[in-house]
Amino acid sequence: MEAIILLGAPGAGKGTAAERLVQRLGVRHVSSGDLLRGAVKQGTPAGREADGYMKQGKLVPDELIGRIITDLLVAGGAELQVLLDGFPRTVAQAEMLEKVVAAQHGRIRGTVLLDVAEEILVDRLAGRLVCPTCAKGYHVRTLPPKVAGQCDTCRVALVQRKDDNPETVCNRLAVFRKDTSPLIEWYSSRGLLVRVDGTGAADEVTERIVRALQ
Ligand code: ATP
Ligand code: MG
Repeated sequence: MEAIILLGAPGAGKGTAAERLVQRLGVRHVSSGDLLRGAVKQGTPAGREADGYMKQGKLVPDELIGRIITDLLVAGGAELQVLLDGFPRTVAQAEMLEKVVAAQHGRIRGTVLLDVAEEILVDRLAGRLVCPTCAKGYHVRTLPPKVAGQCDTCRVALVQRKDDNPETVCNRLAVFRKDTSPLIEWYSSRGLLVRVDGTGAADEVTERIVRALQ
């Protein structure tokens, strides 16, 4: 197993870049947020536990998301090439990942930090729309769908995520600063961090990431 980690604040563009990197790098996209939203929608025990945290913009417990991701990595076996989007988000989660990678004789190829200023993050999240079916992300102004309010691929009506309201966004940014930003130092000290400018067009950001990983 080989993992690339996408690190960045809410709205930094992890999901948008990941969609494009899947084709460019031939990796499998694993989004912790999408997995959790899927579990909530299906009403699984994990989903029922996660829902309350997510609505408030809090992190779900490390054990809950850790088990979901670990199971998936183990099931993927030696051939798995994965792009982790949204995991790890705490030092405890990074430790869980380190353990499973070692147990599987895998490696972390690199961690990409998507750098975006906070004012831009707030604007991106306020204008974000997502497809409830395929989870593809759009922005009303900077990344609009071909037909207003409709997913290009699924043709269903786009929705705003429950946690993309201003108050919850503020919580999510605070959580990033407190719980997730220590991972910058964690991966940097292991020689695994590359910083990439996350502003500009989605395709440009994707190219920067590809170059940074070479
Ligand atoms: P963006 O989609 O712009 O990257 P985000 O990173 O805040 O924004 P998601 O990754 O979709 O959004 O996560 C949404 C919510 O799911 C989080 O606010 C949190 O409640 C939960 N979540 C996702 N990943 C984790 C994780 N690794 N640990 C704990 N909670 C998580
Ligand atoms: Mg996301």
